[in-house]
Amino acid sequence: MPELPEVQTIVNDLAPEISQQKILGCAIHRESVLRTAPQEFVRIVVGAKFVSVKRVGKYILFSLDERGWLLAHLRMTGKFILQQAPIKVHPHDRVVFALENGKSLIFSDVRCFGTLEHLSTLEDHIGLNRQGWDPWSSHLTASSLRQRLEKRRSPIKTVLLDQTLIAGLGNIYAAEILFDAAIDPQSKANSLSLHQLKQLVFSIRKILDLALIHNGTSISDYRRVDDQTGEFQHFLKVYGKTGTACVRCSTLIIRIKQNQRSTFLCPHCQK
Ligand SMILES: [Zn+2]
Repeated sequence: MPELPEVQTIVNDLAPEISQQKILGCAIHRESVLRTAPQEFVRIVVGAKFVSVKRVGKYILFSLDERGWLLAHLRMTGKFILQQAPIKVHPHDRVVFALENGKSLIFSDVRCFGTLEHLSTLEDHIGLNRQGWDPWSSHLTASSLRQRLEKRRSPIKTVLLDQTLIAGLGNIYAAEILFDAAIDPQSKANSLSLHQLKQLVFSIRKILDLALIHNGTSISDYRRVDDQTGEFQHFLKVYGKTGTACVRCSTLIIRIKQNQRSTFLCPHCQK
């Protein structure tokens, strides 16, 4: 599932390619990925121009000149692909936009949990408006985090996946961040010291920055818009590393289940 570094890499890849490009056509191959009525969607986007694209949490937000916004969420297996037209439509291509520059912007999704929708205003979208701090926001500090976690007794790993607290983290980066911060994923969120929270905020930014430099993690479906893989999978320290030696203390990495999801940790150096 794409997390912040993968979504941001896609946004970075798309921005120079689609900026100021007029949408000349739009073909819907799977209506269920749309949260807007298909006919209305096509009527609005055809003739519109992409002005900019940015990331909000794990959402991708395209602004269209005077015609509102397109909002995409990749969920499990969604991706954007840019190809020179004419394209041969692949079975997983769900929506195809024909651009002025002769390229096609394809929203592809194997499992179809991803979504695309048109918004005329950003104020009313519940998911978008419930997004928590961006990891680099100046509002995210050890003390603001301590305040927000005061009453939360859930394990810190589970809390890091809560998009309404910090937007953009998922299972891979939560595990890597907690390893970097030497925090046990099972620790109750409200039991962490101010020192640990400082380390946590530092590690969130450090790991995400590194993952961005390496264009995200391609373990399963994630690909960049030109179909290249990211490279951060080569730098993971705990995620998927069950039974290998911890790089800090050589204890074997273990896998546990939290909320039906795998968590990887070093049982010795994460306290
Ligand atoms: Zn260790």
